[in-house]
Amino acid sequence: MLVLNRKMDMQSSRRPLEGRAAIVTGSTSGIGLGIAKALAEAGSAVMLNGFGHRDDIEMQRRSLAEAHDVDVAYSDADMSQADAIRSMAEQGTRRFGQIDIVINNAGIQHVAPVESFPPEKWDQILAINLSSAFHLVRAIFEGMKARNFGRIVNISSAHGLIASPFKSAYVAAKHGIVGFTKVVALEGADAGVTSNAICPGYVWTPLVERQIDDQAKSHKIPREAVIRDVLLKNQPNKRFASVEEIGALTVFLCSDGGSSITGAAIPVDGGWTAH
Ligand code: NAD
Repeated sequence: MLVLNRKMDMQSSRRPLEGRAAIVTGSTSGIGLGIAKALAEAGSAVMLNGFGHRDDIEMQRRSLAEAHDVDVAYSDADMSQADAIRSMAEQGTRRFGQIDIVINNAGIQHVAPVESFPPEKWDQILAINLSSAFHLVRAIFEGMKARNFGRIVNISSAHGLIASPFKSAYVAAKHGIVGFTKVVALEGADAGVTSNAICPGYVWTPLVERQIDDQAKSHKIPREAVIRDVLLKNQPNKRFASVEEIGALTVFLCSDGGSSITGAAIPVDGGWTAH
């Protein structure tokens, strides 16, 4: 019996999220995909979401399910649309029976001075990077509280803690999500539901690759100079974080080990916000 118990303990520590079900928004690429992989590896069923080629997404969905022996679904819900977000939550609940973990990750960027920042870009960034988290949490919060377990992880940014010029909408949305995270933490605290924000500095993803190309063109400097003198200028460890690092932290926050961590905004920025 003792041996059996120990074996079960070892198994649950290898697969700390066995039996859980998660929705990860914006998980067809970059950080979201890294988190989805880490959750599946930890034993959780996962609902993928985001844009991309149907065949690629289906291949990704199937290979994740087969590699980790978990149920993996996909929703094409547009995170700028409240109705679509509610439908995605319903689809996830029907498919998995319940939603234990929500990762609000979908996000876009636009860089321009305030006076020429397109108002429609402002609205779009606020909708996708901030309001989508409200709509999804609103849809699943009651169920989590009733079951006395829930994990909400919002992917904010170092720009949720400090500002940079020309990123008004992004910085406003990412600060906003840190505030929202704290409110949800307080409302879920006595019902076993935690809510935390992860605040990455630069992480090597397609979003950052696009920024490197754009900035190289607009500053007329080589890509290496953009990386060294612009992106990693304020990041003291001079390296990009990896999606695997963000995935590992997310798994920990969602595990039993993360039970007392709530309302936190955790920098993963190589010391950037320690300045
Ligand atoms: P990415 O461009 O690689 O991926 C973004 C994902 O969001 C994709 O799956 C895309 O399809 C999806 N998406 C975009 N608009 C959507 C919409 N309307 N509805 C549904 N899905 C949508 O970006 P990334 O670098 O992985 O960024 C992910 C998150 O991490 C974002 O919130 C971003 O702000 C944040 N972040 C990134 C970095 C970084 O350095 N990469 C740093 C800090 C924070």
